[in-house]
This record gives sequence, C-alpha cells and structure tokens, in this order.
Amino acid sequence: MGKARADKLHQVKFYCRLCGHKFEAEPERIEESPDEPWHPWRYFAACGQCGEESEQAYWERNLLKAWARATGPQTDEGKAATAANLEGHPTPEEAKRTRFNAMTHGVYARTATYFPAKPGKYPHCQTCEYFNNGCDEDPPPGQRNPPACMKRAELFMKHQVAFETKDPGLLLNIRSDVQAALQAIVDDMILAITASGVELRSPEWYFNPQTGEAGIVEYTDWETGERRTVHKITAHPLIKPLVELIQKNNLTLADMGMTPKVQEEQDLVRGTLEQRENDRQAAESYRSRQTQLLEDLRGQIQRSQARVERDPVLIEHQQNEGG
Ligand SMILES: [Zn+2]
Ligand SMILES: [Zn+2]
Repeated sequence: MGKARADKLHQVKFYCRLCGHKFEAEPERIEESPDEPWHPWRYFAACGQCGEESEQAYWERNLLKAWARATGPQTDEGKAATAANLEGHPTPEEAKRTRFNAMTHGVYARTATYFPAKPGKYPHCQTCEYFNNGCDEDPPPGQRNPPACMKRAELFMKHQVAFETKDPGLLLNIRSDVQAALQAIVDDMILAITASGVELRSPEWYFNPQTGEAGIVEYTDWETGERRTVHKITAHPLIKPLVELIQKNNLTLADMGMTPKVQEEQDLVRGTLEQRENDRQAAESYRSRQTQLLEDLRGQIQRSQARVERDPVLIEHQQNEGG
C-alpha cells in the first residue's frame, strides 16, 4: 500500500446520525484507527444543524476502503485517468489530498448514468444498509441524496481500482457472493423439482375450432367399462434451466474433477507420484550411505597421517631438516 493512501483527508463528507444532516467539511477532530490499516484515521466534525459530533459518512468510509486497498494505477491509461481527475490541482501535495475526493466524484458521476439514486425502487434497496439511512425515500428538509445509488458506486469503485491495478483478486469477494447466490438458486430449483416430482401429469384436452367444443380427452376401459382420463406426462419445466445453469456455471462433475474417469486418472497420477517418491527415497538413502563412506574414508586418511607424523624416524628426519 502506497504511503499516499494513508495520508489524512482534509475534506471529508459527514453524516449526522441524529438529525440526518449531510455536510462536507474539514475534520475538527482526527482519531487514530490502527484496526483499519487501509486508512488508519477516523474523522469527526460538529453537525452544522444540531451541533452533535458527527462521524465521516459511512458510505464514504466504505468507498474509501474500496479505494485504499489498491496500490494506485499501474497502467498508462489508469495513470492518465487519475491525472485527468486531478487537473486544476497545482501542487503534488494538494493533488495527493484531493485524489480520493476526485475519484469519488468521477465514480458517482459514472454510476449515476446507470444507477441514479432511487431509494426503495431497486430490488436491492430493501436489504441495503443505506436505505432510509442516508439514501432516503423522504429526505429530511434541505438534505439531498447522493446522485447515484451508493451501493452501486462501491461496485464501480471496486471494479475501477481492480482494473487500474490489474488485480482481479480485489474482486474476489464479489465473485464469491455471486457464486453463493447462484448455488442458492440451484438448491431452490432442486428442492422445487423434488417437491413436485420430476414428471408432471396433466389431463390431455382437446379443442374443436369448427364447433368451438373443448374438453378433456377420455376413453373407456374395455375390461372394467370405466371412463378414464388421458394424461400427458411432461418433464418438470425447471429441469432444463437447472441443467443449463449447472453447465454454464461449470458446476458439472467433470468441471469439479469428480467423474469416475477423472478419478481413475488421478489414481494413476497418484500411483506414479508414489513410485517417484519411493525412487527418491531410495536415491536419498544411497546418497547418505555414500556420504558416510566418504566420511569414514577421510577419517582413515587422517588417522594414518597422524600415525605417520608420530613416526620417530620421520620426526627425527624433520627436525634435522629444520622443519
Ligand atoms: Zn445533526
Ligand atoms: Zn441502492
């Protein structure tokens, strides 16, 4: 994480939980927040309307989190886009400070073209943390909602940062949420199919366009003489979309490496690996025996040298030589 990301913000959006006032101001109090390494500062300012000390708007805090996890633009386009956002901010110091605010501004503008703020009108609104908690159906007098859906703005910010840094890992939690939701749909479909049966029986009916007569197709059982209804049997209509969903989402047995054929192949590979491991161990023990032999040999040579050096004739000879 670059140092620029940990710089304190000088202009912060606040949200008063007491009276619902939204305002932008310089923080009056800054607290250290070491538990949030992605931006270890928390900002406070007095509400201009009711005087209550307010904290940084939590939707801006969430955007800050999405932004600060990245290391900054890596691609030329990314850098150019950031530079364009910063035009009109002369000093690098000021540029650093306003970088997040500039990017937030851009993200909201682009999000608004697809998802303008429509509190209560999107399917996700009912479970949205911001709904009537900053993104209000009936905003307090003088208060406006942000221009775009705040939840969608977070999605846009995460994607922009991930694409700029070319780091798909930043989108991992979004992907896993989608996967979990798809799995839940698959589960529901299976439950619905098993509850009503894989085959559906419905009475066969007919319509005669000449006479306008319509009715259920019946016949007489010649053994008992009873009237019986002809039934049409169809596959449960959810089976087809279920299979399609499973195939397109790569959830088949083959995709998960669970088919009998794949299992056999894996056993084969495992067998080969085990054999290789045995070979490796055999080679290892051979090598260590060799090392032992060499060590023993070295010991023998040293011992024989020592014997030679202690030899009285040799010692005398060396002394004579002045050695
Ligand atoms: Zn207030
Ligand atoms: Zn929303």
